[in-house]
Amino acid sequence: MAVRPIVQADSPILRQKSKKVKRFGQVLQNLIDDMVETMHAVHGLGLAAPQIGVSQQVIVIQLPEDEETPQSGKLYVVCNPEIIRTVGEEEESEEGCLSVPGFVGDVRRATVVTVKGLDRHGKKIRVKAEGLLARAFQHEIDHINGTLYIDRVDSPEKIRRIVPVEEQGPQEASQEEPAL
Ligand code: ZN
Repeated sequence: MAVRPIVQADSPILRQKSKKVKRFGQVLQNLIDDMVETMHAVHGLGLAAPQIGVSQQVIVIQLPEDEETPQSGKLYVVCNPEIIRTVGEEEESEEGCLSVPGFVGDVRRATVVTVKGLDRHGKKIRVKAEGLLARAFQHEIDHINGTLYIDRVDSPEKIRRIVPVEEQGPQEASQEEPAL
């Protein structure tokens, strides 16, 4: 396993529709392991394969179960994910992206989504997600379709600069924004 560099927003790969996963062999298993390791290394809540430079429809998401144990929540690995149903009102909330470091934006997202796709072995799966998990799925599925959250904000004023963690004083150290 290896931590791979995160591709930044100006890279063309983040603007392409990724290719569907067709083979579930060792190459894919290594890619997924690297994605999980990279997500953990950068304290992300989710990661899409194009963010490490691989144009494949693979996403990983892991939300913390509680604040003290960041990597405690259920790990979702979904290949060829698709939103098949959205329910309820949209909600505007703050969102950050590992490929757009130093910024957050207020983005409208559906509060409940149902996602279908394949697990890491090619078995069909379906996930009903709410709240932050629903937001994370929508953000990562956008990535495999070549869309960034900065394309979805209603106006440029909804994107704000945040102080990078390394420049924060001790009082601000808890302000690290969860990114996807
Ligand atoms: Zn992102």
